[in-house]
Amino acid sequence: MDDLSLIIDFHKEAGRQGPGSVQTTLKALSFCDLDPNTTLKVLDIGSGTGSSSFVLAKMLNAEIIAVDFLQEFLDVMQKQIEERGYSDKIMSLCASMDDLPFKKESFDLILSEGAIYNMGFLEGIRYWKNFLKPHGKMIISEITWTTNNRPQELQDFWVNVYPQIDTASNKIKQLEECEYRTLSYFTLPEDCWLKNYYIPMQNRFDAFLDKHNHSDEAKALVESEKQEIALYEKFKNYYSYGMYIVEKI
Ligand code: SAH
Repeated sequence: MDDLSLIIDFHKEAGRQGPGSVQTTLKALSFCDLDPNTTLKVLDIGSGTGSSSFVLAKMLNAEIIAVDFLQEFLDVMQKQIEERGYSDKIMSLCASMDDLPFKKESFDLILSEGAIYNMGFLEGIRYWKNFLKPHGKMIISEITWTTNNRPQELQDFWVNVYPQIDTASNKIKQLEECEYRTLSYFTLPEDCWLKNYYIPMQNRFDAFLDKHNHSDEAKALVESEKQEIALYEKFKNYYSYGMYIVEKI
């Protein structure tokens, strides 16, 4: 199995592929003032196996398109869409977030949790705006510094992994410069990382290693996830996901 197949195999078993929670998705939605009397057109970008899409489907009168570029994640989601009776509300679509097959101004709401970094925050907010209707809403979670200064070790690590990591004030400025109006902002609490993401991940390590006969590649993947968790535990006061809730002007 190549490295990407291993990553997919490890993460597709999870309820979510990044930090977050039902409560924080609902909290973000609460700032959007969406019209309950029309069937909303909603896009979930980088949906993974659908952690956010299922919250949207439960809460909204909406047709939801869940986009991810990994068909394996969408296959897991599709099975749940059928099992949970959401076939009339959620459609999964395999496409890349930087090359979306939609008409301009088609969506009332675009949501993307823990995924925009794959194309870059600035590139994503500029490109995705095309697909929002006027006054359409957008909810984005993005890795964010929670303080103005931080240890050099942490700074070096993140700037190497994701050079666009920045403070919320700078991210909000970028959104405003891109002609979005800020509706709200909050930081994801620790439970979103540990209880909902890292602890379930740790609980999968042994079965994953057994399944792959403790291959060097599987051990390397587990090791790198362990390092990511250790980094979070050491430096969690300095970064989190920020939840940005905005409106297209
Ligand atoms: N929103 C989900 C998944 C977050 S993980 C959750 O919060 O649980 C990031 C997701 O983005 C993964 O599912 C990954 O496959 C997807 N992704 C990465 N690059 C992508 C791209 N270029 N186009 C579409 N999806 C992409």
